[in-house]
Parts: sequence; structure tokens; C-alpha cells
Amino acid sequence: MPNNQSKTAVVTGGGSGIGAAAAKRLAKEGYKVCIIDIKEDRAEQVKEEISGAGGEAFVLNVDVSDPARVSEAIGKVHEKWGSINVLFANAGINGTVTSIEEMDPDEWDQTITTNLKSTFLFVKYTIPHMKENGGSMIITSSINGNRTFKNIGMSAYSTSKAGQTAFMKMAALELARYKIRVNAICPGAIDTNIDQNTFTEEGVEEVKIPIEYPEGNQPLENKSGSSEQVADLVYFLASDQSSHITGTKIYIDGAESLL
Ligand code: NAD
Repeated sequence: MPNNQSKTAVVTGGGSGIGAAAAKRLAKEGYKVCIIDIKEDRAEQVKEEISGAGGEAFVLNVDVSDPARVSEAIGKVHEKWGSINVLFANAGINGTVTSIEEMDPDEWDQTITTNLKSTFLFVKYTIPHMKENGGSMIITSSINGNRTFKNIGMSAYSTSKAGQTAFMKMAALELARYKIRVNAICPGAIDTNIDQNTFTEEGVEEVKIPIEYPEGNQPLENKSGSSEQVADLVYFLASDQSSHITGTKIYIDGAESLL
């Protein structure tokens, strides 16, 4: 196992999809991983897989949008491991797919809070435990924070994802003095459970456009990406291989955003 044994990582949304793949990848590389998720059973499964492969992980069942729970969770990681080297702020939901006219303000709040406020909370509460030794913070935004046409009905989601990249830049600038790097990853369609979890298509007309890439619209492979491909990028940004990279958003979308 690589020599990251004393390094620690916090992964939010680590019970499924991109977060689960990243938690397993970081553990494989020797990081001790705290898996945070609102769905505890899934997070426990990921922990079992990590333990079965000889890695170290523990689970915290936390709603990432709740300031008191986030602060408490980060406090527990600190108590257990002392410092935090990597934060992967990744938990998120698509939210309801609906027009702005019909969107319930509470639904707007839920998407913005789960995706954007949670990012602020994890960054904020992690700083005291990362600032002595520096570290890497990675935020999962989306190509949908930067485009509109294919996102009709996802105004709250797109706004939350654009907000995350704006926040990332501010954090990178503020935290450079502590040698904390902050970057955002912008995946295109990735083959996870997120659609089944949160999509409802009620009230939204399907947008039909002429496309030559029917399966996932990704020119590079003509299909959606995998969580494992995203986890490779997360590991790169976590590691010293990316020691001069901060304040950047990196697309991982097989050129989907160029269509
Ligand atoms: P997923 O549904 O497989 O995983 C998301 C995890 O976050 C789940 O385990 C869920 O329980 C957890 N979560 C949701 N709300 C939470 C809350 N309030 N508190 C704690 N945990 C919570 O989805 P995924 O595709 O792996 O998504 C991960 C991130 O990637 C999200 O931020 C998403 O917006 C982003 N993303 C996904 C895609 C894609 O196509 N899958 C594309 C671009 C960006």
C-alpha cells in the first residue's frame, strides 16, 4: 500500500456513486477515510468494502446541510485522527426538475442548501483542522453549473453548482496562506444512482435536440463516465501530484460540455 498511512480524508456523500468510488480509491492509496452520508446503510457497506480490502474507514450519519451536525462531525474526525488532509465535499442532489414558475420555494431551498450551503459548511469547519499542515479540498460541482440549454427545469441545481465554483475560487484565494488548495471538479453525466434518487420529470417538457451521441452525449466514449474515472481525478487532486493546482475547475465529461 502507498505511503499515505497517516493521511486522513473526509468524503461527503460517500455512501454512493462518485463519493463511494472516491472513498474506496483514497483508502486503496492508504488514506484513512471518514465516510459521511445521510444514508447510513450504504455508507456502512462502503466501509465494509474498505475494511475487507485492508483499509481504514468509519461512518458518520450526517445531513450535510445542518451546520450543527457538520461541525460536530468534523469535531469527531479531529478527535479520532488529529488532523484532516483531504476534504471531498461531494454530497448532492439533483432536486426537482420543474419550471421556475412552478418551483416551490422550499424545493429551491433544499437543493441550494444540500449542494451549496453544505460545501461552505464543510470547508468552514475543516479549516481549523487543516490549516497547520495544509491540505486539499475538492468540491464536486458539475458541467451543469456552466451551461443552460440541456438543463431546462434544473435552475436550482445549476445555480447551486455555479455557486460552488464561485465559492471554490474565493476559498482557494483565502486559504492559500495556509497551503490549503481548493479545486472543483465538474463531471458530465456519470453512471450513478443520482437520477433514481431525486429526479421527477413532472411538469417538464422533454427537450428534443438533434444529437449524434445517443448514449449519454459524450463524444469521447459515447457513454456516461464512471464513478471510478472521477475517483482517479479526486485522487490526483488530493495527492501532491497536483501540488501547484488550486482555484481551478476541472471538467471530467468526455467533451459533453462542448456539444
Ligand atoms: P449519488 O446519489 O449516487 O450519491 C450522492 C450521495 O449523497 C448519496 O449517497 C446520498 O445519500 C448523499 N446525500 C444526499 N443528500 C445528502 C445530505 N443532505 N446529507 C448527507 N448525504 C447526502 O450521486 P452522485 O452522482 O455520486 O453525486 C455526487 C455528486 O456529483 C453530487 O454533488 C452531484 O451533483 C455531482 N454530479 C453528479 C453527476 C452525475 O451524472 N452523476 C454529474 C455531475 C455532478
